[in-house]
Amino acid sequence: MKPSSENYRSHDVVKQLRTDFYNKCYICEDYAPSTINVEHFIPHRGKNRDLMFDWNNLFYACGHCNNSKLAIYDNILNCTDNSHKILDWIQFNINPYPKEKVIIQSSIVDIKVQNTVELLLKVYNGEHTGLKTVEGENIRERLIDEMVKFTKRLTKYSKPTITSEDKERYRKKIREMLSVKSPFTAFKVWVIKSNPYLLREFASFLPQ
Ligand SMILES: [Zn+2]
Repeated sequence: MKPSSENYRSHDVVKQLRTDFYNKCYICEDYAPSTINVEHFIPHRGKNRDLMFDWNNLFYACGHCNNSKLAIYDNILNCTDNSHKILDWIQFNINPYPKEKVIIQSSIVDIKVQNTVELLLKVYNGEHTGLKTVEGENIRERLIDEMVKFTKRLTKYSKPTITSEDKERYRKKIREMLSVKSPFTAFKVWVIKSNPYLLREFASFLPQ
């Protein structure tokens, strides 16, 4: 429901966006970011009041991503549009080791897809300014922590000696980590999609 306030940065608007976007930046998928921007998916350029106040044009972004996107990337895939199959069209990868960079690729020839890949590489790996380099490193550190945790659970789950109770317990934890509510879901989904055994086990948990 669109809050009545005309101010798109008012507390009720930001609170509602936080709920709608599961408190995750819609670009980098960092959870509970410390700086939040109400982003206009299609830039209003200070003139278009319809775009400025259209609820469907307001997105929840961290300061780092909002600042990296600016008005340059105004033609990217929309994560709230079900016809944009982002997790099918774009591969998200990172090795769960210290200081690794993300690998984002797509074989689809489409301007929106290519722009999205470029923006994602910029927010995670970009070194365009000193500040952005450090912000990207901080996000990747949280991403790697999450991937290490995820890998550990998958490994435990797959042990041939695990008891059926423990297996069920790990299955639940893995399900939670694949939910759109958890941070960096795209990277975890691609771990599952890239491994035939894991895909057989967890295909039903993948977000649609
Ligand atoms: Zn972000």
